[in-house]
Amino acid sequence: MSNERKVAVASYYGALTFGTEAMRERLPKEVFKALQDTIKSGKKLPQDIANVVAHGMKEWAIENGATHYTHWFQPMTGSTAEKHDAFLTLERDGTVIERFSGEQLIQGEPDASSFPSGGMRSTFEARGYTAWDPTSPAFLMKGGKGFTLCIPTVFISYHGEALDEKTPLLRSMDAVSKAAIKLLDVLGIKGVQRVITNAGPEQEYFLIDKKFYSQRPDLVMTGRTLLGALPPKGQQLEDHYFGSIPDRVLEFMQEVEEELFLLGIPAKTRHNEVAPHQFELAPIFEQANIASDHNLLVMEVMRKVADKKGFALLLFEKPFAGINGSGKHNNWSIGIDGGMNLLDPGDTPESNISFLVFLVAVLKGVYKRAAVLRASVASIGNDHRLGANEAPPAVVTVFLGDLLERVLDSIESGKVDLKTEKQILDLGLSHVPVLNKDYTDRNRTSPFAFTGNKFEFRAVGSSQPISVPNTVLNTLMAEAIDDMNTAITAKINSGLSKDDAILTAVREGITATKAIRYQGDNYSDDLQRAAAERGLPNMKNTPESVRAWIEKDTVDMFVKYGVLSSEEIDSRYNIRIERYVKGIDIEARTLLLMVKTMVIPDVSEYQGDVGSSFNNLVAAAEMIGLSDEALKTQAANLKSLAEDLSKLMELTGILEETIEEMEEEESELAKADFCSARILPCMNAIREVADKLELQVDRSRWQLPTYSEMLFEH
Ligand code: ADP
Ligand code: MG
Repeated sequence: MSNERKVAVASYYGALTFGTEAMRERLPKEVFKALQDTIKSGKKLPQDIANVVAHGMKEWAIENGATHYTHWFQPMTGSTAEKHDAFLTLERDGTVIERFSGEQLIQGEPDASSFPSGGMRSTFEARGYTAWDPTSPAFLMKGGKGFTLCIPTVFISYHGEALDEKTPLLRSMDAVSKAAIKLLDVLGIKGVQRVITNAGPEQEYFLIDKKFYSQRPDLVMTGRTLLGALPPKGQQLEDHYFGSIPDRVLEFMQEVEEELFLLGIPAKTRHNEVAPHQFELAPIFEQANIASDHNLLVMEVMRKVADKKGFALLLFEKPFAGINGSGKHNNWSIGIDGGMNLLDPGDTPESNISFLVFLVAVLKGVYKRAAVLRASVASIGNDHRLGANEAPPAVVTVFLGDLLERVLDSIESGKVDLKTEKQILDLGLSHVPVLNKDYTDRNRTSPFAFTGNKFEFRAVGSSQPISVPNTVLNTLMAEAIDDMNTAITAKINSGLSKDDAILTAVREGITATKAIRYQGDNYSDDLQRAAAERGLPNMKNTPESVRAWIEKDTVDMFVKYGVLSSEEIDSRYNIRIERYVKGIDIEARTLLLMVKTMVIPDVSEYQGDVGSSFNNLVAAAEMIGLSDEALKTQAANLKSLAEDLSKLMELTGILEETIEEMEEEESELAKADFCSARILPCMNAIREVADKLELQVDRSRWQLPTYSEMLFEH
């Protein structure tokens, strides 16, 4: 079907989803309505309704070529999982029919024992169940020769603990909705049924030719190059950014978009990114849980299409050292379901006031919970990116832009008392969206920037699912919104007028959170100094930042808002550490393998060539009249080559010993610290020597594809 398709996108958009249209068509009116109500309220689907929905969904799926169904969920490994079952059923008399019951729709039972639980369940009771999240439409996934009906689900243990990343996200969306409804009520916006958090993740990625990829064990095993000298031309010229898209890549993008449109995923923008072979896909924002599901599908579809087109898709945060890495800007906002965006100041005094209250809530939440927000995006890959002068630093600060800074300053200093509508309107808040959207007013170095009517959390890594950072954002917001509510209500109770109470709470919030606002260049030393002076958390890597998850105060917040129990937090903490340690271990062993079986043999051969050429030269020197000086120069070259090779061998031995030594560490956390303090530096030392050698060794003797080839050949 790919690019021969001439029909309008609107005619096939969502054709592979059991969305509103398909439901309306397939379901009896009352059932359709009941399902819509369930979706709106976020409640569980009653069994009798589920039976009818399951039947309609099955008929639709079979007509579209599906033979199997699967509960599609997001275990704590960071990717997605599925186990396929056929609709096929045999009746007693042997007749074949295709069945799919309500029970099978709303609940499935995967054998959970091979999914990580972080120690939450003992293996003998390692069973869990998956349950449909009706807010996220079922879809048909193409693969092999046919289609599979995929039912987006949550994954829960029999004791009710979340074994996935989606359950906490849904819980956090509920928590922030409840808190916001209460606060809106106090502000005079009554009767709100549900408040929604939205996310629009901008996905960056690299595409390289598959033939290079398959010759690089490091890319295959770890997602990043562990070796590789920088080419003479990197991205200095910045000629790739927004440049014209190579045809072969454009074809890839078009096919990805078509698949996404069929799945009802609103892919909107495509462009080149800063680094060579780096690109971006941005969707239109959606409700956070749907955006999260869709982003997982975007990554999966891109991987499949890349493979088909002879590309390898690199989602790792920093596949090439010295070249820009990839992130995922998580655009986040909060708004009344079907109504106003609470982060859009609008142009009435009321909307300006609610905007200020919610804005200050964001400042409070991010200030108070900066450490766990940072921890929510900590990973092996992101460690190479955060703070590397191209991506936001590891310090979380908030950028608001000139106009908002001025507004907050004048409110804080008491220059305006917001007593009259005119005064409120005179603040000029209605211009904020326009001004902040303007390119010049953006601070591209900020990890958490206000961009008109949403915040952009830019520290998320390109390969990370957005569920965890959004869960943390929603939860810290629920808490901060409640804090604002408590402050305002207390002031009203102590006799202040409502307007004064709101203004005072806003003013106090501004003063209390000043430390988190930073308008300068986040790549500068000034930011590092400011972080130290202001006491902002500055955790450089995963092992350092992961500890934030289990601080008592953090745990209390997640428990209070019903987002994660302390067992669920422990399990996630354990899994994060384990994944880090395993990941570094794999990287170190892959590096060893490459150096021992590729680099050392290549350099040795080349050294042999240089050695024999030198011997020949020594023998002929007198006859050809070669000066001693000239001979010495060649000798020095040979010597330096031999020394570097010996150094490489020595370092290889040291890395092997260091890996062994890690086993002696007593806890997993100690191992993680050991990885970052001892193993990574050792790997870097090896890389330094190997990369130096790469620039000397005869290309025909160097087995690994080089950076130049991977990044500049199409
Ligand atoms: P940029 O100028 O940063 O590219 P865009 O308006 O193009 O800004 O949006 C970037 C991303 O932010 C897109 O995925 C877009 O859908 C998303 N976005 C826009 N408005 C909102 C919002 N109110 N809430 C969440 N995400 C949003
Ligand atoms: Mg952006």
